[in-house]
Amino acid sequence: MRLHFGSERVLTVVAHPDDAELFCAGTLARAKADGAAIAIAVLCNGDGGQPHKPIRNLAAVRRREMDAAARLLGAELYCGNISDGTLADDRPVRLLLTEVYRQFRPTLVLAHSPTDYHVDHRAASALAEAASWFCSSRGQKTKSSPLPASPALWWMDTMNMIGFDPGFYVDISGFTPLKEKMLACHRSQMARSGDSSFSPLLDLMLLQAHARGMQAGVAAAEAFRAYHAFKRARAW
Ligand SMILES: [Zn+2]
Repeated sequence: MRLHFGSERVLTVVAHPDDAELFCAGTLARAKADGAAIAIAVLCNGDGGQPHKPIRNLAAVRRREMDAAARLLGAELYCGNISDGTLADDRPVRLLLTEVYRQFRPTLVLAHSPTDYHVDHRAASALAEAASWFCSSRGQKTKSSPLPASPALWWMDTMNMIGFDPGFYVDISGFTPLKEKMLACHRSQMARSGDSSFSPLLDLMLLQAHARGMQAGVAAAEAFRAYHAFKRARAW
């Protein structure tokens, strides 16, 4: 049995400019190849990711890097432009993200696991969940009209697979070169590979894709868990 994303509209909600590459870009690429519309919402602007040799206007540099990566994938890009380390599950960002859902109109949302390591990832997870309810609620007013139904929601794998028990895997064999090319767009972060406090992202990404692939009996995979909550659960 193989998932087919066909006429779905898949939106990823991540905290940082390079998170989609690490956790779900292969799945987005597969969905796109199946004919789905895809988009990435990045809530933070990446201004906390300074390499050893500081970059002036880092947020603007990272915006250009995000644009380039999203173009490679053929994904729409929404940016929250919130400073790194300050993301919180509060009312203004809930409404901002609800409006993103209402503009893109996803049928499936991919979001950070509530158990991921970074405080911004956990905040993004809570926000993605809140917006998955608010987007179809007429009581929550934003510029665009409410969706007729809430999207399904899948939690993404965690950084380095720590503490994440996969519910299922998406075969991304054949899409790792695209993930690599997208990650290479984030040159400001590639420049951090020698920093002792920073894990080289390319190694992390490839090891994880191949380890999850090995668990599922394919060359490369991304792992997810479906969120089973009122109006977000689906029958397959
Ligand atoms: Zn991140």
